[in-house]
Amino acid sequence: SNIRKYFSGRQANLFSKPTFVHAVEDVSLALYPGKATALVGESGSGKSTIARLLARMYDPTQGELRFRGQAINLKKRRASVLREYRRHVQLIFQDPFSSLNPVHTIRHHLAGPLHVYRRIRTRAEEEEMLLALLRRVNLEPAEQFIDKYPHQLSGGQRQRIAIARALAVQPEVLLADEPVSMLDVSIRLDILNLLLSLKDEERLALLFITHDIASARYFAEETLVMYAGQLVEGGPSDAVIQQPKHPYTQLLISAAPNPARSNPDTEATPAPVELAARGEIPSLLNPPSGCRFHTRCPHAMPICKERFPGRTDLGDGHWTNCFLYSDRTEDK
Ligand code: SF4
Ligand code: MG
Repeated sequence: SNIRKYFSGRQANLFSKPTFVHAVEDVSLALYPGKATALVGESGSGKSTIARLLARMYDPTQGELRFRGQAINLKKRRASVLREYRRHVQLIFQDPFSSLNPVHTIRHHLAGPLHVYRRIRTRAEEEEMLLALLRRVNLEPAEQFIDKYPHQLSGGQRQRIAIARALAVQPEVLLADEPVSMLDVSIRLDILNLLLSLKDEERLALLFITHDIASARYFAEETLVMYAGQLVEGGPSDAVIQQPKHPYTQLLISAAPNPARSNPDTEATPAPVELAARGEIPSLLNPPSGCRFHTRCPHAMPICKERFPGRTDLGDGHWTNCFLYSDRTEDK
């Protein structure tokens, strides 16, 4: 709830004011068992920062993180609470090459987490669990993979190992940060389908981070759109992608190589914003005031520079933060 994350930037000299990168600004989101949520945005929008905050790789500057309704407050936490939390919330990275250690076998990569969190009494029991993990991610015959080194595997196989390693500790939440964007196009769908089936079978709460809004509709029940550190629109994926309301979401969809608007039932989609609105995400070191999209938005009004619009409910769980849809009198 209301998570902010600022990183301190470099100071020009001893006497200059310290600078801050406003990476995540007032973000609230919820993940649920058995449900996939896509977090969509261009690179540099703060998506990975959110994944790392949720994984407790660092603390939020402000805001509260809750797990099963309980605040996971780092300042007051007991080490055991945090350890338990970290076990239940696993992160899969974009790059399956760098997340595995080249000098260790697959057995070594998987046995570590197994031993940390589960009681294994015999060698045979360990072997059985390791093979079951490999089968779980469709690496078969498992016996042939277990003693291999990462360099002997393809990118897709390595990503499967990274997924198996996350599963070894029986997590409840899986954060997948662009899990297929570095993989060959031909195997992306296989890995996405694997994540989907694991989500269903293990009732995982899945956060799927991507820059490709078209894949969000296929993959996730809910889609959240992020721009320059702020969430701008969210709701059921079909609604967000077929009837995008926020000018930035419309821009993303119009720029997608495989846009949802090729679907005949998306006729009602508002005209996409002018391509002239394309450009760079602004620097988060000194982000635009108010709605950070105002520097690119063709509909920007004076109020957009002054403050960030509150959330407007559009019905059926669909919402946006944009003054165009606000009916609050103070927003006029
Ligand atoms: Fe554009 Fe204003 Fe809406 Fe931001 S709040 S997207 S600047 S109209
Ligand atoms: Mg990223």
